[in-house]
Amino acid sequence: MPSAGPAEISGNGLILDVAENGDGWKVSFACEPRTSPQPLWFNVVATDLQGAPVTFIWENPDITLGSSASIGVLRPVMKADDGPWQRCAAVHVEEHPDGRRSLRFDHAGGADRVAAAFCFPYATDELNATLDELGDAWQRSTIGVSGEGRRLERLRLNGADEGRMGLYLMARQHSGETPGSWVLDGILRFLASDDPEAVEVRKAVDVWACPFVDLDGAINGDYGKDALPWDFNRAWETMPMRPEVQAIQRDLQRWMDRTGPRLVIDLHGPGHSTPGIYLQLPREQRPVPQREGAVEFARLLAPRFPELDPDRVMAETRYASRWNMLSTAGAWVWDYLQQTQCVSVETSYQRLTAEPLYPDDYRDIGRRVALTAFEWLSGRSSGPQ
Ligand SMILES: [Zn+2]
Repeated sequence: MPSAGPAEISGNGLILDVAENGDGWKVSFACEPRTSPQPLWFNVVATDLQGAPVTFIWENPDITLGSSASIGVLRPVMKADDGPWQRCAAVHVEEHPDGRRSLRFDHAGGADRVAAAFCFPYATDELNATLDELGDAWQRSTIGVSGEGRRLERLRLNGADEGRMGLYLMARQHSGETPGSWVLDGILRFLASDDPEAVEVRKAVDVWACPFVDLDGAINGDYGKDALPWDFNRAWETMPMRPEVQAIQRDLQRWMDRTGPRLVIDLHGPGHSTPGIYLQLPREQRPVPQREGAVEFARLLAPRFPELDPDRVMAETRYASRWNMLSTAGAWVWDYLQQTQCVSVETSYQRLTAEPLYPDDYRDIGRRVALTAFEWLSGRSSGPQ
C-alpha cells in the first residue's frame, strides 16, 4: 500500500488521506503554514506506488497567498522517481458545497515514487550542483550561523579587483519563494560563463551573493512569508531582529567598503498566481531618490522583457505589513550604506505570459536581470552616485 508524506528536504504538507481511486491512488494533503500565518509552499512525496496512477488533491489552496478565484491557473510541479520536475499540464478546481475549493492534479503512473511541489524546489543540493558545475568561478565563505545552527554562506565571483562597481544579490528572505533562487541560479551561471557580455560584467563588477537568507526555512520547507516571530524582510531594524540579518548586514558593510557605485538585488516570488516579473517599489514614505533609483531600474528592465507590458514591471508597495513596514532590506541598505540602492524583484511561480516557466526559463530571466544591473551600475559610474 502506498504511503505519502513531506519530502525530506524542503518538505511541507500534511497528508490527510491516501486511498484507492479506481485503478490508482488518491493522495489528499494540505500545505502547512509552519512559521507563517498563511500557507503556500508544499512539497510532498507518494511512495510504493508500483507504477499505479496517482491523483493529488490539494485541499487548501483557497487560503494561500493570492486570490482564491485564480487557483485554476496554478501549475504545480511533479517528479517521477529520479526524473526531472515537470509542470502539471492541467489542474481541476473542485468546488465543495460549503464553498471551499480544492485543486486536483494527476500523474499517469509508471513510477514508484511521485513528488508534488508548489513550484520547482531549490535548496542547498541544487546550489551545490550548480557551483560544482561552475568549477571555481564562485568563492564560498561562511559569514555567520543560522538560528538553527547551519552555516550561512555568501558567494563572491572570483577574479575580483577591489574598488570596482559592486553588486550584492540575495534570495529567500521568504524561504518558500523558490523562483528567486532559480533566477539567482541563472545569474551565477551567466556570470561564470564565456558569454562576451558576462566577461564584460565580470571585469567591471565585484559580485557577492547570499543564496539563502532564511536558510533554515529553505531546508525545513517553511513558506516563510511573514515568518513568526519576525518576517526576515522586516527584521532589518537598526538592531537586527534575526541572526541571519545581523550577519548579512555586517557582510554588506564589508562589501560597501570595497565597491562603488553599488546595487543590491533582493529576489522574491509574489502571490501564487501573479504572472511576470516586476519591481516592488520602495514605499511612498521612503526618500524620493531611493524611489527614483528603483523606477530607473524598472525602466531598464522593461526592454529586456519585450513580452511584458512595460507598465507592469513595477508595482507600488501598499499592502499591509505585520511589522514595521519600513524595516526592509531596501530601507536599511539605503539608510545605513550611504544611500545604496536595493531593488526588490518578484518573479512569478507560474509564467511570464502564457507558457509555464521551467528552470531554464528562470535562469534566462536571471541573465536579463544581471545585464539590467550592469546597465544601471554603468549609468551611475559615469554620473553622480
Ligand atoms: Zn518575498
